[in-house]
Amino acid sequence: MRKAMTEIVGNRTLCERLTQDIEQDSLSHAYIIEGANGSGRKTLALTVAAALACENRHSATHTLPCMKCNSCRRIFERKTPDIIFVKDESKATVGVDAIRSICETVRIVPNDFDDKFYIIENADKMTPEAQNAFLLTLEEPPPFVHFFLICNSADHFLETVRSRAITLRMQRLTDAQIKDFICANDTRASQMNLSSPGELAEIIKASHGGIGQAIAFLDRDTWQPIRERRELIRSFLQKAISSAPTPETVSLLLKFSSKRDMLCEELSLLAVAIRDLIAVKNADSPHLEFYCDANEAIELSDKTSLSYLYKLYESIDTAICESEKNANVRLMMIKLAINASLL
Ligand SMILES: [Zn+2]
Repeated sequence: MRKAMTEIVGNRTLCERLTQDIEQDSLSHAYIIEGANGSGRKTLALTVAAALACENRHSATHTLPCMKCNSCRRIFERKTPDIIFVKDESKATVGVDAIRSICETVRIVPNDFDDKFYIIENADKMTPEAQNAFLLTLEEPPPFVHFFLICNSADHFLETVRSRAITLRMQRLTDAQIKDFICANDTRASQMNLSSPGELAEIIKASHGGIGQAIAFLDRDTWQPIRERRELIRSFLQKAISSAPTPETVSLLLKFSSKRDMLCEELSLLAVAIRDLIAVKNADSPHLEFYCDANEAIELSDKTSLSYLYKLYESIDTAICESEKNANVRLMMIKLAINASLL
């Protein structure tokens, strides 16, 4: 019987396809793995690496990878020089230096296994210069090298990079799939499901379909700022929608971050929440991206008109575009307040 690669939750088709590639020895030397943060992209790359290196690869009684042999363990614990993570946390981009270090080491034969694996994190942050510097190596690496380019969106790559790799897209999981998985695998989740199910629902909603993200949010310190951000957005929308313009609404708006990157994230999430409010007006039971409780969204949405929600949405969209163009952040927020008739 054909043996299937261990399934990454919710990504059966992807895993079946990779199993076939492994079995037929037709694995590509480069994959772009596209998906949200915490959607299992690195786990997928490590699973493929382990499937190739597993000591029980040809045993019919073991899963693929077996996750128990020495090779599997070394790969998942990242205790082998043959798994090379390329990332630069200190920079917003992946530059030529990082790529040069790959090109310089790529011909060194693997140490522990028959193959070696480069996992490039935030690969879509590669500058065009870095992508160009990477092209030759990406096109014809030594036969024992596999590249995994981890990214949010493959659209950010130059066409020349995209055409040299196979793009795999991680499936976005439903809230129920995430809940089932984390409650079965993490005691913090199962306990929270008993003590404060509402908060667990918030965590799952905030993880936008990524199991890894949801697990990260089970840590109180990681969750706290995200939770505060969600509360600020809720309070702002409550005020902006249910009352006449008051200084209080504007003062809530000024509580949004004064740091550009952070502000863009906050405004994007605010736009997502408004899309929910528009969606509940337009459809019977739409999928909501921000609100856990559909009734909360319906109640709030009922207090205003569709045209005001569109106006608010457009004002925020304009603010996001302006902040990306380096507009003065404070002025931009005041303009947003005026555009949205909050003043
Ligand atoms: Zn194994």
